[in-house]
Amino acid sequence: MNRRSLLSVPLGLGAAAVLSPAQVKAKAGRPKNIIFCVSDGMSPGVLMMAEYFSKIARGKGTRWAALMNDMTASRGVQDVAALNSPVTDSSSSSSAWGSGSRINNAQVNVLPDGTPLTPIMQLAKQAGKRTALVTTATVTHATPAGFAASQPRRDDEHLIGLQYQDRVNVVMGGGVKFFEAGKRKDKVDAVGKFAQAGYRVMRTKAEIKQAGKVLGLFSDGHMPYTIEKADVPTLAEMTQFALDGMAGASKGFIMQVEGARVDHAAHNNDIAAQLWDQLAFDDALGVCLDYAAKRGDTLVITTSDHGNSSPGLNGMGAEYVNSGKCFEAILKAKGSFDQLPKMFGSKPTAARVREVIEAQNGVVITPTEAEWVAAAAGGKKGISINRLQDVMFGVLGQVLSNYYGVGYTGTTHTSEYTFITSTGPGSLPFEGLVRNTDVFPRLTKYMGIQFKNPAAAQG
Ligand SMILES: [Zn+2]
Repeated sequence: MNRRSLLSVPLGLGAAAVLSPAQVKAKAGRPKNIIFCVSDGMSPGVLMMAEYFSKIARGKGTRWAALMNDMTASRGVQDVAALNSPVTDSSSSSSAWGSGSRINNAQVNVLPDGTPLTPIMQLAKQAGKRTALVTTATVTHATPAGFAASQPRRDDEHLIGLQYQDRVNVVMGGGVKFFEAGKRKDKVDAVGKFAQAGYRVMRTKAEIKQAGKVLGLFSDGHMPYTIEKADVPTLAEMTQFALDGMAGASKGFIMQVEGARVDHAAHNNDIAAQLWDQLAFDDALGVCLDYAAKRGDTLVITTSDHGNSSPGLNGMGAEYVNSGKCFEAILKAKGSFDQLPKMFGSKPTAARVREVIEAQNGVVITPTEAEWVAAAAGGKKGISINRLQDVMFGVLGQVLSNYYGVGYTGTTHTSEYTFITSTGPGSLPFEGLVRNTDVFPRLTKYMGIQFKNPAAAQG
């Protein structure tokens, strides 16, 4: 075996045998800074598909997969159940991290009896830390909200936004409609309120400039899918900017980074949009890992809040030899499924559907498949077997699985354990099977905060 092959063989396994006492001690230490990265709705199967996709699309692997092979990192899986269901939504999941208590789905840091819980960023701010929320969803969406807000209804995003004042130094993502007076249902000028409280409000990529407190809102609702190539900052760019804003935080900081649209694409069974957004998330993770590697005082955790529709690459053809070729066809997709209804027109015909799918997704579907999609697009039932997939995107997702090789189990969240991978001081306890409620007590302890939220029975 030559030197090169020695180096490239089981790095992870080799390192396991030689993890030095100093390395173990470093993992067990206490971080000054905490970065918590969330690929929203990322079923475990996405990790391998993103790795494979990254290699064929960009000629390099992903940072997350590399971390899985780094014995100085802690690798685990996470039980993310909600209080009232084994299948969680993002608000309940993020609240479990943000408060240490399990709650019911669709609420943000509120117990079933209405008791509000104190979110981790409120506590961090009181302890003199800097805080940041960066997302590709509306900034007031469930996952960022779980770290900084407390609301009986997750959909009250206009109320969630107001709670960020005094709790979050840097807020970046989408969601103008929940801040502008003319767009809010209560007509409150939330942009003005933030400006008055000393926030620099940014609306375009060109306006991004370092400042103390920042409210960056780059789209009306969620930010566009990566596959659309819109003129907005990428998640990695927002993450880098937010990290720069954390520099000089003498007492450290806590930041959450969310790749939100991985979840939305999974709901739509749209594998091309999902994988491109997963790679955008991975780039943001890379920014965090590079930052932490230079300092040695920063814990980086990367995980997902729940699975979604469990996509997987199927064995295609005899002896599965067509799987790779099918998967490569995903590269031909030119946009997300969101573009399709407009392109199908108001009275979608099978012929039109077939034409559009060929142009947009790079595959020629059969006339019968086109009829099913056209029927669903026109609000009629063409074919119905798995009822979760009766919607047009679900029917299309099933049809495209014949060509891309990637199938989904439905169009809703799923109960799988999610990956949780951590590196840096304080990562050691995140080995093995982690309960979502374990995150809060560990992170607050690292920040020197002594606080326990109340919990419901079983919560
Ligand atoms: Zn979702």
